[in-house]
Amino acid sequence: MKSYQMLIDGEWVKAGSGKTFDVLNPATGAVMAKCPEASDHDVDRAVRAARRAFDEGWRDVTAQERGRILLRLAERMRKELPRLAEIETKNSGKPLTESEYDLTDVATCFEYYGGLATKLHGEVMNVPDNAISMAMREPLGVAGQIIPWNYPLLMAAWKLAPAICAGCTMVIKPAEQTPLTLLEFAKFFADAGLPKGVVNVVTGFGETGAAIVAHKDVDKIAFTGSMEVGRIIMRSAAETLKKVGLELGGKSPNIFFADADFEAAVDGALFGVFVNQGEVCSAGSRVLIQKPIYKKMLDAMVAKAKTIKLGDGMDRATKMGPVVSREQMERILKYQAIGKQEAKLAVGGGRPTQKDLQKGFYVQPTIFYDVKNSARIAQEEIFGPVMSVIPFDKEEDALRIANDTPYGLAAAVWSRDIFKCMRMVKRLQAGIVWVNHMQPTYVEAPWGGYKMSGIGRELGPWGAEEYMQVKQVHINLNETPIGWY
Ligand code: ADP
Ligand code: MG
Repeated sequence: MKSYQMLIDGEWVKAGSGKTFDVLNPATGAVMAKCPEASDHDVDRAVRAARRAFDEGWRDVTAQERGRILLRLAERMRKELPRLAEIETKNSGKPLTESEYDLTDVATCFEYYGGLATKLHGEVMNVPDNAISMAMREPLGVAGQIIPWNYPLLMAAWKLAPAICAGCTMVIKPAEQTPLTLLEFAKFFADAGLPKGVVNVVTGFGETGAAIVAHKDVDKIAFTGSMEVGRIIMRSAAETLKKVGLELGGKSPNIFFADADFEAAVDGALFGVFVNQGEVCSAGSRVLIQKPIYKKMLDAMVAKAKTIKLGDGMDRATKMGPVVSREQMERILKYQAIGKQEAKLAVGGGRPTQKDLQKGFYVQPTIFYDVKNSARIAQEEIFGPVMSVIPFDKEEDALRIANDTPYGLAAAVWSRDIFKCMRMVKRLQAGIVWVNHMQPTYVEAPWGGYKMSGIGRELGPWGAEEYMQVKQVHINLNETPIGWY
């Protein structure tokens, strides 16, 4: 078992109180590491280090150099990928192949923002006077970043890379369940040329996160996690009027018209909600199927779902690992029980019975059908491998059901009719709409939610914009007095 320390002002340190917490391997339930539990005092030290780094030096580091630092981090990530992928799988439960994809995306994210650093710029406006009017873009200052456990290092990368690109300094907190890959990644900072204090990593629970949000010297909060905590964060941030970016949950519709390619549809519906054990903010957890193919598609999905191999993510044969924690497992089991009251169960519905899966936090991939959209399993985010299948008649019905949710993160539509697809694209209320696919996303493209799924956009130039503020500069070119008085 390993004891980790946190990174504050370039030093690896324990919590001031000496307190630690256990980090588990969800495949076995065994403790795999200990991490410091940061108090308000530790958070304050980290924020002060970030402020000092911003004021004394980092703001003068050129965009070219920031770009080079990001590219060095990407290169190191690619080099260390096999080792970090194993840690990601052992700590989060996800199959090793999925960790490898995630960490490749981490490298790609740093490469993208490494390239973007020298392309950020302001604008010059045409104004109706003898003057030059400019909008300058400047880094926002100190960012507080709070990370979830479903894509531990990737969600950290989505926040670190654009913030470094934009010239901010930061205090980042990984989720208490999955802090290890970020702590490992932070060991690369010094070699990459990142000055001390620019990125500070603190570990701890919700209280540690809350201390970051409440700190008066933090200029912006970037949060990915539950709607419930997002709301708490926004309320707390109101005290100090910080900028907030929130990427919250979803109950995303995955819509299948009768004319969709059948094999691709079956595949896309299962992948949409079962990848990463369903622990995906954009999970296609509501599967809407047009009536002519409803029965056939349901049967095909059930047959295929039965073949999904559950197991330790370190085993290459595993297709679905354990969920991240006992708490999550219990939450999913609770929703499976609710689902049995509200709808019909087609497959799964509890814990697997295999003997070797009893210690880990495993749940069966589960499909409920004939689900009413008003049911709790169609309205509330479960964040596990639970699919709710809902039949529909016409295009308007699909649209109405799809949009009938407080969330608006993602949606997908499957059909070979481009007219129908594009009509749906225009009217679905979601931050991303896939056509004949679900889940892949690119660092070049914006990511974020409509409605109660969030505020702001990550990735692409939008992601860097979140870490900048705009200064208007007015230069008078007319030397004569205005003569008003
Ligand atoms: P879940 O409940 O699924 O674990 P959360 O939204 O609670 O998801 O957690 C996401 C991240 O938010 C974690 O890093 C967690 O420690 C942090 N967090 C939890 N509560 C708070 C809070 N009140 N303020 C700030 N951060 C929090
Ligand atoms: Mg929570």
